[in-house]
Amino acid sequence: MLRDSYNRKISDLRISLTDRCNFRCFYCLPNGEPPLARKETILTFEEIERVARIFVSLGIEKIRLTGGEPLIRRDVPGLVEKLSALKPALSDIALTTNGFDLPRHAAALKSSGLDRVTISLDSLDPKNFADITGVDALGKVLDAIASARELRFDPIKINAVVIRGRNDHEVVDLARFARDNNISMRFIEFMPLDSGHEWDRSLVVSGREIREKIGAAFPLALIEATRGSETSWKYRFADGSPGEIGIIAPVTEMFCGQCSRIRLTADGQIRTCLFSTDEHDLRSVVRSGSSDGEVEEFIRSVVMTKEPRHYINDNSFQPASRTMSFIGG
Ligand code: SAM
Ligand code: SF4
Ligand code: SF4
Repeated sequence: MLRDSYNRKISDLRISLTDRCNFRCFYCLPNGEPPLARKETILTFEEIERVARIFVSLGIEKIRLTGGEPLIRRDVPGLVEKLSALKPALSDIALTTNGFDLPRHAAALKSSGLDRVTISLDSLDPKNFADITGVDALGKVLDAIASARELRFDPIKINAVVIRGRNDHEVVDLARFARDNNISMRFIEFMPLDSGHEWDRSLVVSGREIREKIGAAFPLALIEATRGSETSWKYRFADGSPGEIGIIAPVTEMFCGQCSRIRLTADGQIRTCLFSTDEHDLRSVVRSGSSDGEVEEFIRSVVMTKEPRHYINDNSFQPASRTMSFIGG
């Protein structure tokens, strides 16, 4: 089992498949910065399969494929199929996507062994959706949610980053959408990881405020004992309606003490925290002909350097060395 120096169990690996994206979300990649990774620095699917196998042998139980937009990469179902061979030690393979290309790939992803899908949706208003993401694609994302439902991905999770003045007036509508469609709707506080460096505390809508707004329209009941290594507080609708509300409040209700995550960037760098200011070059270790044992040793030593927490709320806060689309959310 992988444990860090604070005795946290590390069981959750997030693999970024690319730092490119076809969206330009205000809170993530607004300026469409040139991709950092070049073709030759991006891990191949064979390399990802090998390191994933080693991570799983060390105790990783869950893998989430993310990006950038992971479905921009060709043949993601082929990768999922390779990762599926690591089950049952690997108990869960998930994907986070903006949904744009999901309908085309959903069936292949399902049959290759993908367990869960999380789709990002920040607005139900076509114009606001386009303003926030830079793409007029609300219909496409709603289609993606429908295709995930048809294929019985369960539960369907939706992520919304809530930003003051942009979509905080929509949280009740999004909660209603969760009720009407039996969706697990997760509201996320805006973190200082945007490439435009527009983050400001005044733009953060706290988890508490989100909870109160939704609760005033639809009374919520906390689902007991759900925090654990989870990052969200989960609520059900008190009137028994279907759907679930998750509140992810990394800024105002830090959950680093329960963190079980480690990340691998598209160009093969291990990040021990979203807010790390340095990275660990797994790609060089893998490409220098290291044995599985040597790769294992490297991963174990890197995990021991995992930061205790983020420092967003400290005066000494140093921005992360990369922004969200390069890290893999
Ligand atoms: N492109 C895919 C998507 O949007 O779902 C996957 C990658 S994206 C970086 C993963 C998640 O990170 C998304 O749900 C997005 O909303 C979230 N995210 C991006 N920037 C963020 C920020 N500055 N603060 C909080 N969450 C953010
Ligand atoms: Fe792309 Fe996802 Fe970032 Fe939006 S949140 S810019 S869809 S990577
Ligand atoms: Fe884990 Fe770092 Fe996120 Fe805290 S900020 S939950 S330590 S990744």
